Amino acid sequence: MNEQEQIWVQQARRGDRSAFSRLVEAYQRPVFNLTYRMLGSVEEAEDDAQEAFLRAYSRLGQYDPEMKFSTWLFSIANHYCIDRLRKRRTTQISIDDTSVEIGAMVTHAELCEEPFISLVPALAQAARTVGSPQIRNAGTIGGNVATSSPAGDTLSVLLALEATVVLVGTNGERRVPIADFFTGPKRNVMASDEIIRSLDIPIVRGAQEFVKVGTRNAMVIAVANLALVVDAQSRRLRCALGSVGPTPLRATDAERWADDYIEHVGFGDP
Ligand SMILES: Cc1cc2nc3c(=O)[nH]c(=O)nc-3n(C[C@H](O)[C@H](O)[C@H](O)COP(=O)(O)OP(=O)(O)OC[C@H]3O[C@@H](n4cnc5c(N)ncnc54)[C@H](O)[C@@H]3O)c2cc1C
Repeated sequence: MNEQEQIWVQQARRGDRSAFSRLVEAYQRPVFNLTYRMLGSVEEAEDDAQEAFLRAYSRLGQYDPEMKFSTWLFSIANHYCIDRLRKRRTTQISIDDTSVEIGAMVTHAELCEEPFISLVPALAQAARTVGSPQIRNAGTIGGNVATSSPAGDTLSVLLALEATVVLVGTNGERRVPIADFFTGPKRNVMASDEIIRSLDIPIVRGAQEFVKVGTRNAMVIAVANLALVVDAQSRRLRCALGSVGPTPLRATDAERWADDYIEHVGFGDP
């Protein structure tokens, strides 16, 4: 944080509204850019940007000076936009011949239904194992990916399906292959001014399976989970594991072994 900004923050924390106005002036544009890119409407974006500054002002006492002010402010704006998008309750989904794009706010309960059962059966299976009905009604696929827990149930499936994470932020949209998204337990490449807009998933013809092992039958964090995707077109098998490392992992040796086996024995044979 630059020196002048630090002074304004300190003054604002002591109740100096004009110092806070300076911070608003400095960040008005990037915060509006962020809310506009996330919400897509100028009116809502203006409202949300204003709300983000109000929230920031009322929470200045909790601000940790070790953190960049911009990071802290963007995270407040992000959370507010996510709440707003959640309230819209629109199941954002678009499908073409080759892929299905699932909005980040789609809940686990929604993923358990059609068209997901037919299009991405392993994802529907994984969503069915998440928490309880209450958690599945409230929890979203975007929240699961953003949390980036190695045990997140949808993550191994998304990895095996070679999904792309679509992010939006102040600098526009960027698409990150899910294999490059996770960097460690609960860590990922998302910047502080970005949210997940959607998950773009190729439609794969062939069998899919998700299995989860836990210490109970329900409401349990995975000891391990596994997603298998057979791509009948390319005659390849893709396998990903969750809860067995710092991030969900592709089991590439097992994939190679299965590919050799398919090559050797034939695709249709057991
Ligand atoms: C009792 C209980 C049981 C659970 N069981 C399971 C389980 O079995 N399997 C499993 O995988 N998970 C489980 N969870 C974890 C959690 O419910 C899921 O990870 C869920 O998908 C989170 O989604 P959410 O929308 O509620 O995210 P939130 O909890 O609201 O958000 C989580 C984080 O992600 C961020 N975030 C949310 N949406 C976005 C977005 N679109 N872009 C960027 N950041 C975003 C939020 O800011 C926050 O930092 C459980 C949780 C609880 C409390």
